[in-house]
Amino acid sequence: MHFRTRAIHVGNEHCPQTGAVVPPLYLASTFVQPGAGEWGEFDYSRSGNPTRKAFETTLASLEGGCGALAFASGMAATHCVTAMLRAGDHIVAGSDIYGGTYRLFHKVANRAGITVSLVDTTNPANLEQAITPATKLVWIETPGNPRLSITDIAASAEIAHRHGALLGVDSTFASPALTRPLELGADIVMHSATKYLGGHSDLLGGALVVRDQKLRDELYFVQNATGGVMGPWECFLASRGMKTLELRVREQSKTAHRLAEWLAAHPQVNRVLYPGLQAHPGHAVACRQMDGGFGAMLTFELRGDFQQTKKFVQSTKLFGLAVSLGAVESLIEQPASMSHASYDAADRAKHGISDGLIRLSVGLEAIEDLQDDLVEAFAKVTE
Ligand SMILES: *Cc1c(COP(=O)(O)O)cnc(C)c1O
Repeated sequence: MHFRTRAIHVGNEHCPQTGAVVPPLYLASTFVQPGAGEWGEFDYSRSGNPTRKAFETTLASLEGGCGALAFASGMAATHCVTAMLRAGDHIVAGSDIYGGTYRLFHKVANRAGITVSLVDTTNPANLEQAITPATKLVWIETPGNPRLSITDIAASAEIAHRHGALLGVDSTFASPALTRPLELGADIVMHSATKYLGGHSDLLGGALVVRDQKLRDELYFVQNATGGVMGPWECFLASRGMKTLELRVREQSKTAHRLAEWLAAHPQVNRVLYPGLQAHPGHAVACRQMDGGFGAMLTFELRGDFQQTKKFVQSTKLFGLAVSLGAVESLIEQPASMSHASYDAADRAKHGISDGLIRLSVGLEAIEDLQDDLVEAFAKVTE
């Protein structure tokens, strides 16, 4: 079956008892067992829940994985991966990553004796150089955040595997509608389901998808032991959101691409970072590993200082001033003061997160209305 058919049907079989077209929402925390010491498929909702299983089944199918695990948030999912590591282990991570991942690696995982090196993974040679004999995990995010840098997944997998490390890919920005990292050699795909999978800014969730059953079982063990699972209500909403994933992401990407072209020619814009533009340094790799669009995230640098940029992001009306992304409504934010405030100032400077950067999450609105909204914000900055 094709992607969009699987998004609707896999994991969403009609209820055998009632014929309900949509599988019911199971809020039960515990399940009656056939006998003492005999276990049915479900026993306790931290260990497994039918509504969570439905979401995991659909997502595993969309990513081409052997299984998926749903978490309370994207950070809980990433934390589960770091919790598999031991003291002395080393992570090599991309420098263009989610602010919360940066914080988890540098300020939480470090307490367990895990070390992290951040490198610009858009050049695979940097990755190769940063790997040490202690490196157990390579963590990349593509398109990256907030600069929308593109990292070659297949090349990263080859390097990680040659050194005996796992490759984890935060694929939140692409979603399986545009990129399927497992097909390119990744071991773990991570999602903040809060974003495109849910797609409507009404749930918090995360997921890991893997190709290998043994790795799935190891991650499941940690998940069940630490308990950061996605709630059934959130799973239900995420399953519902995923049915329209392809449609939404393709349409939103189209609008983002057109806005990127328009912004690139705007006199008040220094540069536009959008992987769909030929001028983007990662364009060729993006063409290879993204299919159906280049994503609906768009970053640009205003010709202006910190205060003017702040004024711009506070001036839009349709673009809501908020972190988060991936939903039907458009959002705007200033990475330096918002999504990437948890980066040390020195790391922000080093990794090109300048004060003038503005990140847009392009929604499903009419492009004409979005454009008018931005035109007004540009006017406000020069007032
Ligand atoms: C939001 C986000 C996360 C964290 O997910 P939460 O659901 O907020 O915990 C991780 N990576 C990326 C790229 C994100 O956008």
